[in-house]
Amino acid sequence: ALDKIFADVRGEFPALTQKVYGKDLIYLDSAATTLKPVSVVNRISHFYSFETSNVHRGAHYLGDVATGFFESSRHRVAQFIGARQQEEVVFVRGTTEGINLVAHSWGLTNLQKGDEILVTEMEHHGNIVPWQIVAEKVGAKVLFAAIHDNGELNVEDFKSKLSSKTKMVAFTASSNVLGTNTDMPLLTKLAHDVGAKVLIDGAQIVSQGKVDVQAIDCDFFVFSAHKLFGPFGFGILYGKKEILDHMPPYQGGGAMISKVTTEGTTFNDVPIRFEAGTPHVEGAVGLHAAIDFIEKIGFDKIHAYEMDLLKVATEKLSAIPDLKIFGTAANKGPIVSFNLKGAHHSDVGQILDREGVAVRAGNHCTQPLMARLGIPGTVRASFSVYNNHDDIDALVKAVVKAREMLL
Ligand code: PMP
Repeated sequence: ALDKIFADVRGEFPALTQKVYGKDLIYLDSAATTLKPVSVVNRISHFYSFETSNVHRGAHYLGDVATGFFESSRHRVAQFIGARQQEEVVFVRGTTEGINLVAHSWGLTNLQKGDEILVTEMEHHGNIVPWQIVAEKVGAKVLFAAIHDNGELNVEDFKSKLSSKTKMVAFTASSNVLGTNTDMPLLTKLAHDVGAKVLIDGAQIVSQGKVDVQAIDCDFFVFSAHKLFGPFGFGILYGKKEILDHMPPYQGGGAMISKVTTEGTTFNDVPIRFEAGTPHVEGAVGLHAAIDFIEKIGFDKIHAYEMDLLKVATEKLSAIPDLKIFGTAANKGPIVSFNLKGAHHSDVGQILDREGVAVRAGNHCTQPLMARLGIPGTVRASFSVYNNHDDIDALVKAVVKAREMLL
């Protein structure tokens, strides 16, 4: 029954009807970005064709229409992640901008010399570099919680690095390389016990299952629309209202103000205080359509289907001689990173590409993790709702071919 449902879902992705190099496109790079279903593309197209107007200006009919859709997206997102109120949902450019906003706005006002920021060894650069930049400015230190060899977080090491000096704990909910899912409520509680604030990088978790920010109790949660079947250049920063209320603006400009005089400026309330300038209106509208797309299928089905793809892919790839998989945590997302012993990841990636199999080969913006694993990079296959067992067979066949050519 699941196969039938997801065969229909696949039909909603026109990208998969294409050929590349004369071969069927096998798209296994959803951890980088998901393909977009026609419902999302059509919604954005309709917005541009009929509803284009600037928002929050109260100027005319169409402006009110656009503002209505823009704000109803905020409401939809608040529901989607379980926020108490839509004022806790800040529209940003993506995960990266969300983290930079918190690092600069919250970090520069709350961090001092000698304070510590705890991240993990499996963070994306997007959840390392902003903290390093701010730490450098204030004289704080960034610590890295270790991982085990199987790619799970070493919770004992995480605990040992928490102290009264820890002011911010920023960790990924799901590694974009190892697939490892972390225990969000547990890590949040441990961080809160020492009085630290918690930011969760949700980039890879939001497509896997329902997130409930209130149950997790994190202070901030960030994700990108484009990894959730939505548009590029748009994302969400969730923050607890009482914390956002005390954070200064990140950027200045139109809309984010209360009053501007030649003497100075007072600022608007959250979330608009953090949304300077004309926003990415069709991003909000597109994300709304993407959430509708996901919830129509249902996370229970999505999870069951993706876990089946992960299991089958892991089994079939493991059976290939000289192939090593990185990241075998019990709780992981639909990602398999691997290398062929003796072959460079980019050579393997190139051969796969020529077979029509789109994977990512590289360090995946996780150089500290690559250093921890002692490798320059991996080949990464990631699965989503539109993949099927034939895709896995195509991947395995291409990897076997790469092995024959390279080893
Ligand atoms: N964190 C993780 C875990 C990611 O996978 C990504 C995207 N590869 C990011 C952060 C950055 O997201 P974006 O580039 O959309 O800002």
